[in-house]
Amino acid sequence: SSFGYETVDPADKTQRVGDLFSSVASKYDIMNDAMSGGMHRLWKDRFVRRVKPQPGEATLDMAGGTGDVAFRMAARGAEVTVADINQDMLDVGIERAMARGIDDAEGGLSWSCQNAESLTYPARQYDAYTIVFGIRNVTHIDRALAEAYRVLKHGGRFFCMEFSTTSWPGFKQAYDAYSHRIMPKIGGVIAGDEDSYRYLAESIRRFPKPPQFEAMIQGAGFCQTKVEPILGGAVAIHSGWKL
Ligand code: SAM
Repeated sequence: SSFGYETVDPADKTQRVGDLFSSVASKYDIMNDAMSGGMHRLWKDRFVRRVKPQPGEATLDMAGGTGDVAFRMAARGAEVTVADINQDMLDVGIERAMARGIDDAEGGLSWSCQNAESLTYPARQYDAYTIVFGIRNVTHIDRALAEAYRVLKHGGRFFCMEFSTTSWPGFKQAYDAYSHRIMPKIGGVIAGDEDSYRYLAESIRRFPKPPQFEAMIQGAGFCQTKVEPILGGAVAIHSGWKL
């Protein structure tokens, strides 16, 4: 891409990401707790407070996986479509919804297998588009952003939360060591899949830094873009409006 981000064959990357999430789907939620020490729950709460879902709003939670973010938004009354390229992840989400007694129609949730780069939806359908810890896995980020823009209504908002690298001195070294040495080991022990978690750490390192990613969001047409760093930028919430 023009952003110099992809160094692997695009077809390989999409396939590899597909296999990865199929292999981790059943352990995905417990892994998130293990890897982040439970912090991902607080980050997701904070993210949803920023999105401010309103009752009845059509919301697309892209790369929504097992529904973690979607459940939070549906609880505030939004009508959420959880879209993900991986049916195994969606299936875990559907089971979680059933276990919580959330009926799809009344609970404001629906599930849809979609590639973020080429959505099957018509233009201008959604009030909000969210993507949490998903976009760095997408092969062509620019295409996913263009699709986000297309399916949003005018006045619609885009929110993305993604890992990045922190600028806090000291913490940066600890974080790098953690993500490159310790994360894959935890992945090996809990999910039996060290390689997948090595790939995930690598994908975080390669993802564009916040200013560069913000420029990509603007390049897709979004206005009034903002970046909110968390933990010195180890995690960042990006947002913008389609006006
Ligand atoms: N948003 C959820 C969360 O925060 O718990 C799931 C995040 S999980 C780390 C990343 C998700 O991105 C996986 O479910 C994966 O299948 C999905 N994904 C990867 N590439 C995708 C693509 N091109 N289109 C849609 N989803 C994709």
